[in-house]
Amino acid sequence: MTTPDDIATAAALILQGGLVAFPTETVYGLGADATQDHAVAKIYAAKGRPQFNPLIAHVEDVEAAFALGEFSADALKLAARFWPGPLTLVVPRRVDCKVSLLASAGLPSVALRVPAHPIALELIRAVGRPVVAPSANPSGRISPTTAEHVRAGLKLDMILDGGACAVGVESTVVSFMDRPRLLRPGGLARDVIEDALGFGLAEADAGGALYSPGQLESHYAPHAAMRLNAEARLEGELYLGFGPYKSTYTLSQSGDVVEAAANLFRMLHELDNRNPSHIAVAPIPNIGLGEAINDRLKRAAAPR
Ligand code: AMP
Ligand code: MG
Repeated sequence: MTTPDDIATAAALILQGGLVAFPTETVYGLGADATQDHAVAKIYAAKGRPQFNPLIAHVEDVEAAFALGEFSADALKLAARFWPGPLTLVVPRRVDCKVSLLASAGLPSVALRVPAHPIALELIRAVGRPVVAPSANPSGRISPTTAEHVRAGLKLDMILDGGACAVGVESTVVSFMDRPRLLRPGGLARDVIEDALGFGLAEADAGGALYSPGQLESHYAPHAAMRLNAEARLEGELYLGFGPYKSTYTLSQSGDVVEAAANLFRMLHELDNRNPSHIAVAPIPNIGLGEAINDRLKRAAAPR
């Protein structure tokens, strides 16, 4: 079904910034180079997600994961025990983490997994970089467990066919951002994880919205106050431009919302690092990824 030539072609496509669907043991993933902001933005566009939910970066082994995230002793224990497998670990980003900030949705954390599927592993090795891969379906639709499902939902450059997925549900997501916390039940049962740890996992909701980024009003918040839909910069503000509203920092000169999404979190961080009292942001049209950009900007501007 999938030949070594197919893997090489798929890896080349991903390195060029393209999207390729591939099988994992959980569900089919929509893969992109995790280190390219623009490739990550294309994933959100293809899935039609109204929000930037953070994405899981898939790596070939535990060592590759160590290059991206900070592992506590407990996180390390789960990685050593259950990888490759249907378990995703959310850990603090290393300062030199190469995964796009857009894939982390601006959070200080990164979600990592080593999948247990030969095609997935061969692809990741051939790419030689972390591969972000949410489920390969349009947002709000059922996750695909065959190449046929993927084809029915999305128009893609390439789909690697590996037959039906063995697990068939998404990975279990455990966060190590404070105490170990179950963010999403999935293909690896909670009690198996708790047995390995020797204690119980905290609940997702107990820690509040910090752990389920989509629900948080003020989720990624710069230190600076934010002024949205600003058609010009006022005294004392740094200005984030878009299209006709130009600035030193412009999300997209040509008014392309996919390019704007790719630049959003990086530019907000860069502006915020200059410690302004206010950041003003140009109007962004609410079409395509513009909706997710405006959703994030609204949260960033929410009172706190
Ligand atoms: P999917 O890619 O559709 O399998 O979904 C990925 C899951 O991982 C979602 O539930 C995300 O909210 C969760 N996730 C990914 N990255 C993070 C992160 N940095 N912090 C918290 N949750 C995350
Ligand atoms: Mg999904």
